[in-house]
Amino acid sequence: MSKNRDDFDPKVVDTLSRRASFICSNPDCRALAIAPSNEDTSKAIYIGVAAHITAAAEGGPRYDPNLTPDQRASIENGIFLCSSCSVMIDKNGGIDFPTNLLHQWKRNHEQWVREHLNKSVESQITIVDGEHKAKGIGNVTGLEIKKSAIIKPGTKVSAEGIGNVTGTKIG
Ligand SMILES: [Zn+2]
Repeated sequence: MSKNRDDFDPKVVDTLSRRASFICSNPDCRALAIAPSNEDTSKAIYIGVAAHITAAAEGGPRYDPNLTPDQRASIENGIFLCSSCSVMIDKNGGIDFPTNLLHQWKRNHEQWVREHLNKSVESQITIVDGEHKAKGIGNVTGLEIKKSAIIKPGTKVSAEGIGNVTGTKIG
C-alpha cells in the first residue's frame, strides 16, 4: 500500500493517539475512539484520526505557508480526533475551527488526560439525588456541589435559618 503524502508518519500517529488516550480531543465530544471487536479477539475497532491542524498540502484547511514541510508533518501539527470530528473540522475549508482553537483543544485535552492518569474518569462526576435539608444559624447551605454533577429529577433541596442561607451552592 502506498503512503498518502498527507498522512502522518505511523510513529507520530501512535504517539498522538496514546497521548490523547484514544479519546477525541474535541471537548464537546470526548468519544472513545477504540474498542475491542466482539467477533475477532485479535482485532480492535478503531475510529481515531491523527488530523492535521494546518493542512499538509496547499489549498487544504488552515494551510499555513509559513510552515516547512517538516513542521507540517511533525506531531506539533497533529491533533487526535474521532473520525466524525476530523471530518467536521475541515468543513468549509476549516473556517469554523481555526488553528488556535485546535491547538487549545489539544493542549487542554492532553492536560485533562494527564490529570486522570490512574484515576477513574467516572468518579469525577457526582450523582446527586434524594432530599437535602439544612437548618441552622450562620452559614446554612442545603446542598453544596463542588465538582461536575448530574442532578437527578426529583432531588429536593431546602435551607432555612438565620444568617447566610443558601439553597444550592454550585462551585
Ligand atoms: Zn469527536
